[in-house]
Amino acid sequence: MSAAVETGPHGTMTQVPRLAQLPLPAGGPAPYFPRMSRMPEVSIACPGWIDDVIDWDRTYADDETRMRVALTCARENVLRDTGGPFGAAIFDTGGSLVAVGVNLVVPLRNSSLHAEIVAFMMAQACVGSYTLQADGLPAHELFTSCEPCAMCLGAVQWSGVQRVVWSALREDADSINFDEGPVFAASYEYLRARGTAFEGGVLRGEGRAVLQLYDERGGTIYNA
Ligand SMILES: [Zn+2]
Repeated sequence: MSAAVETGPHGTMTQVPRLAQLPLPAGGPAPYFPRMSRMPEVSIACPGWIDDVIDWDRTYADDETRMRVALTCARENVLRDTGGPFGAAIFDTGGSLVAVGVNLVVPLRNSSLHAEIVAFMMAQACVGSYTLQADGLPAHELFTSCEPCAMCLGAVQWSGVQRVVWSALREDADSINFDEGPVFAASYEYLRARGTAFEGGVLRGEGRAVLQLYDERGGTIYNA
């Protein structure tokens, strides 16, 4: 495919992965509003270096291999100064990489742009559906470099992912003063009862190292 590559605030932006190979929903893309309000149009894109460090075409067979994609996104986001120390990746259960996300809160001035939220947005754009559980789609899993915060855990329910795996634990984020918000044991119980599986601490040492790297480099702790 010949994806358009545009120049954005981070330089060259990533190509939209695999979009041409994925089916659009019946009726095509949602129609855009014929008239825009005075509110600004919000545009979200991943930085272009992602295409330099991620192999979109291979199969990711196991949890550690999949987690390393999320960890690579997190680590490179720190090293390249394009956002916070968090990365996420969404795979189908066959091991195909659907989309990735990195934390873009500070560069895009948007408190919602945690890596998991960005990954959900990108994956849903790639499959052409507001849910990754749409008819005809395989099951999807979220891999994230750190235990989800309250916002991202809430978004899990509506994203359509059926399994969530993380690397660093909440206490690792706390240790550099990131606040993960009101996440309770009952939050997990609620989601588990609705069919979502969770697993934490996969390659935890590598996830924790990314957080420490960000701290050592004096990265902004935007919610402290
Ligand atoms: Zn979050």
